[in-house]
Amino acid sequence: MLKQKLIDKYNRHLNYLRISITDRCNLQCMYCMPPGFIPRLHHNEILRYEEIIRIIKVGISLGISKVRITGGEPLVRKGVYDFLKRLADMDGLSDIALTTNGVSLKDNIEKIKAAGIKRINISLDTLSRNKYKEITGHDKFEQVWEGIELAHKKGFDPIKLNMVALSGVNDDELADFARLSFSYPFHIRFIEYMPIGKSRMKYGPLLLVPEIKRRISTIGKLIPVKNSINDGPAERYKFEGAKGEIGFIGALSHHFCNRCNRLRLTASGQLRPCLLSDHHEDLKSLLRKGCSDEELADIFLTAVRHKPSDHNLSISNPTEVLSQMSSIGG
Ligand code: SAM
Ligand code: SF4
Repeated sequence: MLKQKLIDKYNRHLNYLRISITDRCNLQCMYCMPPGFIPRLHHNEILRYEEIIRIIKVGISLGISKVRITGGEPLVRKGVYDFLKRLADMDGLSDIALTTNGVSLKDNIEKIKAAGIKRINISLDTLSRNKYKEITGHDKFEQVWEGIELAHKKGFDPIKLNMVALSGVNDDELADFARLSFSYPFHIRFIEYMPIGKSRMKYGPLLLVPEIKRRISTIGKLIPVKNSINDGPAERYKFEGAKGEIGFIGALSHHFCNRCNRLRLTASGQLRPCLLSDHHEDLKSLLRKGCSDEELADIFLTAVRHKPSDHNLSISNPTEVLSQMSSIGG
């Protein structure tokens, strides 16, 4: 069995690499992107698929076994379906997942399936067409919902729906989202808004997990579901008789840093040991200078040494992180 080498000084075993393959997106969500014109990385600044694959192979040799492809919107990048297929065919990965806004799902679900992806997370913050337009800047709710239904029909399981809970924006829909778990076997995940980078959000009162739980508990008793080893930071629950699950991701109210098993590779080839810290190690420059795999592995180990014990972002200390979520990948 492969020896896990990515163990940090707090004895966390880092086996999970989240990879942003593009900073581009076909939406402009109010909590993720600033308004107006958004500067984009130049084509040359973005890692090529070959480069990402080489980095993943080095990661696998150090103990990475799980990857998630994200963005920006990963499905807008040319060649993504072939890339996903190459990942699925790669030795050493036990889990390959995708996070998407769902805009391109309907037209491409067969390609995602053919590529060998089984697990998808779809971001959806409202069930109202008008509000969807307000949140994302685009009138795509129906297209996304049809994509979700189709993914369900085609047997993707589990389908996780990520809802960022925003005070005064979609907090009147918390119970409606929770009720979806009775009609569909979906995992509905309520995510606390993280005030990082530039966005259209104004800092009002943040809607935190204890309050979200309180509000959805009005529809039934939340029964805890035991976390499995591959589970991320979500606290899992189920309503009695429901087909699906409920999850809560409370980066602010409930630090889960002690269980964090993640590293992140940004679209521009930086390895980040923590989502909520701007510290990064530059893999791309070294890669493009023709370095060896051993040198790339050293960068992984350096990133691991810099993984903080926990993050500083808090309700009283927002805007600590300058990077954009769309370039890190969430
Ligand atoms: N475009 C894809 C999508 O939206 O699913 C993938 C990239 S997006 C950056 C990944 C996840 O980060 C999404 O579920 C999104 O809702 C979440 N996200 C983005 N900005 C956030 C913020 N400021 N706080 C909390 N979650 C955020
Ligand atoms: Fe795009 Fe995803 Fe950010 Fe929304 S959350 S703007 S879909 S990258």
